Amino acid sequence: MSGESLITASTQIEQLRAELQYHNYRYYVLDQPEIADTAYDRLYRRLVEIEQAHPELITPDSPTQRVGAKISGKFAPVTHAVPLFSLDNAFNREELDEFHARVLKLSGREQVEYAVELKIDGLAISLTYAAGLFQLGATRGDGSVGEDVSANLRTIRSLPLRLIPNAQGAVPQWLNPCGEVYLSKAAFAQLNHEQMAKGQKLFANPRNAAAGSLRQQDPAITAARKLDLFIYAGSVSEEVSLPTHSAMLAYFRELGFPTSPYVQICQSMEAVWDICQKWGQEGPELPFAIDGVVIKVNDLALQKELGFTSKFPRWAIAYKFPAEQALSRIQNITLQVGRTGAVTPVAELEPVFLAGSLVSRATLHNQEEIRRKDIMIGDVVVIQKAGEIIPEVVRSLSEKRTGQERLFEYPAVCPKCSQLLYPDANGPIIRCLNETCPGRLKGALQHFVSRNAMDIEGLGEALAEQLVEQGLVKDFADLFALSYEQIVNLERMGPKSTENLLQQLQERRLNVPLERFLFALGIRHVGKEASQLLVEHFGSLEALQLADQEAIQAIHGIGPQIAESVVQFFQSPSTVLLLQKLDGLGFCFSLPESRPREGLPLSGKSFVLTGTLSSMGRSEAAEWIEKQGGSVKGTISSKIDYVIVGDKAGSKLDKALKLGLNVLDEAAFLEFMRGTP
Ligand SMILES: [Zn+2]
Repeated sequence: MSGESLITASTQIEQLRAELQYHNYRYYVLDQPEIADTAYDRLYRRLVEIEQAHPELITPDSPTQRVGAKISGKFAPVTHAVPLFSLDNAFNREELDEFHARVLKLSGREQVEYAVELKIDGLAISLTYAAGLFQLGATRGDGSVGEDVSANLRTIRSLPLRLIPNAQGAVPQWLNPCGEVYLSKAAFAQLNHEQMAKGQKLFANPRNAAAGSLRQQDPAITAARKLDLFIYAGSVSEEVSLPTHSAMLAYFRELGFPTSPYVQICQSMEAVWDICQKWGQEGPELPFAIDGVVIKVNDLALQKELGFTSKFPRWAIAYKFPAEQALSRIQNITLQVGRTGAVTPVAELEPVFLAGSLVSRATLHNQEEIRRKDIMIGDVVVIQKAGEIIPEVVRSLSEKRTGQERLFEYPAVCPKCSQLLYPDANGPIIRCLNETCPGRLKGALQHFVSRNAMDIEGLGEALAEQLVEQGLVKDFADLFALSYEQIVNLERMGPKSTENLLQQLQERRLNVPLERFLFALGIRHVGKEASQLLVEHFGSLEALQLADQEAIQAIHGIGPQIAESVVQFFQSPSTVLLLQKLDGLGFCFSLPESRPREGLPLSGKSFVLTGTLSSMGRSEAAEWIEKQGGSVKGTISSKIDYVIVGDKAGSKLDKALKLGLNVLDEAAFLEFMRGTP
């Protein structure tokens, strides 16, 4: 290769990288993209091509190098150059006023300016840049020593791999920004969706999900999680002099960092309090979760002067939003048997108003939880309700005990069917395994008639309980065989409510959307989404009953756990009997109208994907095909238009070749994607 072509390539690479960095910044930091995604992709692909031809020119700060090799073993410990501090908390106006009074007293001033910003519920991190390049990123750890998660942090698209030079073309030689890695509510919802489809554990909240994502051994997984970043503090080299915290944020922003949003400057605690109140109200509408507001003295010289206590900076405080809490007394602890057989202890409370509703029961989760929180029957307890979450018992006030309190003991047998209870293999849950347990049946009935399922109104908990206990309903089919006389004589039922219920049952029997029915059956791991996918794919209950596990899990969005559960369900003798009974009752299912698929480039074309693609996941490829109007099938037949073959394609490839189908390898498929308008 001639020296000249190498120079040209190197110039081109530099230009492309600078351009990509610029557009990345406009997109992720400023949220003002200048070019379309496709134009960005073209620049990116061009860079990949030149780098592939000249691998010696690839450097770690290239935008193509965000996702690196798997990390083996533990994350290396990192001692922070500047320790990461945590903040003192304020829970009300009085505590904020005390903070303000202290600041005034220590500074000897009559007025102090504050920078007020959102407290994002994520994970604190510290970054190091040397000579303008990203060097190291670490978790907070204990504040002094964290873990090196550089390989995962660099997959975050809003994190600059190199800094933007100033007008003179210079970049700082050293920089230590700190901030928060978080997951937006939308990305969190999507992630849990995918976890569910794969039959994997769901994350409790965006914060846990962000933490779990940052500690992956495979950066490719972190990259797929769509983490984001805000910088809210940091240290700069000594030659840079910045007067205020807000000026420092502006400086970080100019260097290419996404900075803490909604920063407001306040001249009084009155104004600060207004902002705290505002976000307490409007916080739920933000695209990311916040758990409070951070108040910092804006003047950096004054920050230095005020310094630190043994634990916290004296110049900043976090105002935490209150979770709504109330006091009550536990009158009794009862056990609730769910449709999956889980036996959950429930605190029966003296009724109390909390977060806008009257609360008389709160979950205690499991026995371990009761022990950990030291809860006895008769205790005065703090209960809490946040958002849509069911009320829970936070703690007991043991100092209020009178000696009349009793310990709660888990029984050995199910309170509903008297069969032995068994602990779950993994976790503190105790289950009733009896499939005909009335407790489980009642739970199953309630799920069956719920709004997203069969949507039958007027069949509440009390009625479900009576129907089961009087032996009127032993499975879902029995519901539809109930007579007027059987219902009207039950407690709290009258002629009108009985007629209303019978009419709804009749309507549902004659015409129920199949996906609703499927969801209503309560097949383990099969949620609303999976039900829809199964119905869309198989088109009838009969086809689904006959499908094997392989055919089911070939559906994009359905994992092996769901597939296995579906097959097991339809093979079970009680299911076979149930479906026979329903058939005998003249049950009719309706099918969803197929989505409009006409007029798209791949309308009417069917695809099979097999083997591993190196440039994208199979689900990504399937998504693209479906977006273009094509459909992705699980099995090879003569009706398939294209078979996309990745690495290690097995018997499907042989079959496709035998049938003489169009077979595309990965390169040809990429070409095909490019050629599709
Ligand atoms: Zn039971």
